[in-house]
Amino acid sequence: MTQFDYDLFVIGAGSGGVRAARVSAGMGATVAIAEESRYGGTCVIRGCVPKKLMVYASAYSEMFEDARGYGWTVAEPSFDWAAMKTARDTEINRLEGIYRKMLGNSGVTMIDSRARLVDGHTVELADGKRVTAKTILIATGGRPALPSFEGVGHTIVSDDIFDIERQPDSILCVGGGYISLEFACVFHGLGTKVTVSNRSTLLRGYDGDVRAHLIEALEHKGIDIRLGVTPVKIEEKDGRKLVNFDDGSTVSVDTVLAATGRKPNTDGLGLEDAGIAMGRGGAIEVDEYSRTNVPSVYAIGDVTDRVQLTPVAIREGMAFAETVFNDNPTSPDHELIATAVFTQPEIGIIGLTEEDARKDHDVAIYRSTFRAMIHTLPDRQEKTLMKIIVDKASDRVLGVHIVGHHAGEMIQCAAIAVKMGATKADFDRTMAVHPTSAEELVTMREPVAEG
Ligand code: NDP
Repeated sequence: MTQFDYDLFVIGAGSGGVRAARVSAGMGATVAIAEESRYGGTCVIRGCVPKKLMVYASAYSEMFEDARGYGWTVAEPSFDWAAMKTARDTEINRLEGIYRKMLGNSGVTMIDSRARLVDGHTVELADGKRVTAKTILIATGGRPALPSFEGVGHTIVSDDIFDIERQPDSILCVGGGYISLEFACVFHGLGTKVTVSNRSTLLRGYDGDVRAHLIEALEHKGIDIRLGVTPVKIEEKDGRKLVNFDDGSTVSVDTVLAATGRKPNTDGLGLEDAGIAMGRGGAIEVDEYSRTNVPSVYAIGDVTDRVQLTPVAIREGMAFAETVFNDNPTSPDHELIATAVFTQPEIGIIGLTEEDARKDHDVAIYRSTFRAMIHTLPDRQEKTLMKIIVDKASDRVLGVHIVGHHAGEMIQCAAIAVKMGATKADFDRTMAVHPTSAEELVTMREPVAEG
């Protein structure tokens, strides 16, 4: 019988890889994990977590303004980018330490090195050393995909934001997805002048009411939104960037963020040598158990380009461990995934958009737009949107869409009901929690549209 160095070798210590390594080790497997950068991956080091800390930092500007409406006297606030950066980086270092500690405590061998596949049971480390394993798991995540136009080298990507030493006075965020819009709101809240551009609309594929509501809210804040345009050239002059769009318009800013999607991190991984099948954009092709065409090699998370979200990668990692090391074949469930976009106002969604629901269902649409109580005394005009999409035949709730304060927190709870198959009648017989914004979810009685 062949002797391998390990039962499992994981390439990539992001959310998915770390979870798979720890759970597999807990099931008795001998496990090694290789990471060329920092433990925690995109989410912890250069994504969700430091981004959310910056969202919190940026929200204070409106809170200082609003505090006056509640009787507070607030001195002219000022923001210290360096202080925020130091505090944020300290927290990220602490979290990385926790990731390492948890792996160590689980008995996982940590290898601080790049690793590439040689064959279905062998990886090669950066120093040329080869390690063998019965099973190899690829969890190398994704990385920003840059568009191609003249002067694109003058742009930064989301990874770079966390290294910026000086707050930009103005920024153009190119792209209409999560990353562009979340950072547009962060920078606006911190006092940077923000322009957003996208070749189509914002958040394409989202419910039309959600998109319209968000665009109006961002424009009301003073964010310059340019839709239907794409940069064709960026020139650098005296430290500023002159961005030329395809409709002849321009904008001059000191920083340009390109947030035009992410691609699977598969370059130079040796996948071709090992015969691993890849699909569109270099994504590793896997079956419902995250297994590649080479039976001893599995892949989870963004590198497979199924759903690019941290909790999904974690679930895929756990399902992998269950399947391979607990003799319990388990497919990750990709149905009805709730997500939040941490724009300001925040967005929380679960299930179908009205547009998609109408393709296959006779629907009833419930919608409410209102000013949240917190905004009344400061006289902030921001509105909350809540929308429920119901299948008329079964009364089942097909989708819930929220834009407003704490939408991310609310949608997590609504998601449990929707995942359980709740009907509109179930929502209606649930007593309201008063006074909250969330109570609107259970008090919308009359549909605004049907059919
Ligand atoms: P998205 O795919 O969400 O958005 C990409 C945007 O860039 C779209 O608006 C798209 O326009 C535009 N675009 C794509 N290609 C080009 C191009 N060649 N030239 C010009 N514009 C282009 O990607 P993000 O980078 O914002 O985020 C990547 C992923 O990360 C998300 O899908 C999400 O899953 C994850 N993420 C999740 C977060 C969360 O859960 N809160 C936060 C941040 C990221 P069009 O719409 O016209 O195609």
